[in-house]
Amino acid sequence: MKVEEKILAQIKKYDTIIIHRHQRPDPDAYGSQCGLAEIIRETFPTKKVYQVGKNVKGLSWIATPQEISDETYQDALVIVTDAANQPRVDDERYTTGKYLIKIDHHPNDDPYGDICWVDSDASSCSEIITRLVENSNGELQLNAKAARMLYAGIVGDTGRFMYNATTPQTMRAAAKLMEYDFDASQVNRILDEVTPEVARLSAYVLENIKYTPHNAAYIVLDNETMTQFDLEDAGTAQIVPLVGKISSVVCWTVVVQQKDETYRLRIRSKGPVINELAKEYEGGGHPLASGAVLHSLDDLADYLAKLDAIAATASD
Ligand code: AMP
Repeated sequence: MKVEEKILAQIKKYDTIIIHRHQRPDPDAYGSQCGLAEIIRETFPTKKVYQVGKNVKGLSWIATPQEISDETYQDALVIVTDAANQPRVDDERYTTGKYLIKIDHHPNDDPYGDICWVDSDASSCSEIITRLVENSNGELQLNAKAARMLYAGIVGDTGRFMYNATTPQTMRAAAKLMEYDFDASQVNRILDEVTPEVARLSAYVLENIKYTPHNAAYIVLDNETMTQFDLEDAGTAQIVPLVGKISSVVCWTVVVQQKDETYRLRIRSKGPVINELAKEYEGGGHPLASGAVLHSLDDLADYLAKLDAIAATASD
């Protein structure tokens, strides 16, 4: 039996289905989670389907999470989308259901769940959810609401089809979703917009970016700077791709101080692989898009020396 069929069999079996995603969600986390929830509601109107996790105001144009009691998990099927590692799953009750399914597109460093469906070649988890529908022989139904959420997830994770995980399969999934009645160009525009605060921070970043000898770029955004721009950690999401727009940059890191005084490393690359470096610093992720942690800026010079060595391997 194919994994898609196994997942569909479990969806059919359970009356209560609870869907989780990763902490610090992005459009793909919301899109894959809430898009799947909407597909199940559309297909099986009598089932109770919930999407849980912290509410993120900036993503409320995609969907809104629900609050549910601990008792709801009794006899429930739990599906976690887009969450590579168990500590990153938003809402730790995900283990308290009857049956657990992981659906993800990150490298499968932490395979968990009774069924684990990971395709690290997929551009986004939303692309995988679209495939789940396509491979269901008409048993799962999309609607315009679900299509819009999944489209937002694909556009979000591919940087509007720019990053190299964008394949013919990605474009076919997006095309399929666009057949439904929603405003795709509005989704594209929302994903490209920045708030006035992020616009001001963007100017600061472009002015203050620093480079290692082999064009690894970096910037440190400490709590004082973020407060000055009236922004919190979530406000750095749109800063990260901005640095890559500079043609000379090979790979880069946006270093963001956290409330607990540690530093979040948001690491990206145009070619040389950076996820092994991320693993050395309590992190991980995709070959060209990873995250990690620094406990002190005293470790920054060492980290940058390693990032610079990686940048040095880039072909011209
Ligand atoms: P970010 O810069 O936080 O958007 O992260 C980029 C990618 O790295 C995402 O695919 C994350 O799932 C992954 N990632 C970020 N932080 C971590 C971490 N601490 N451990 C493992 N993977 C991470």
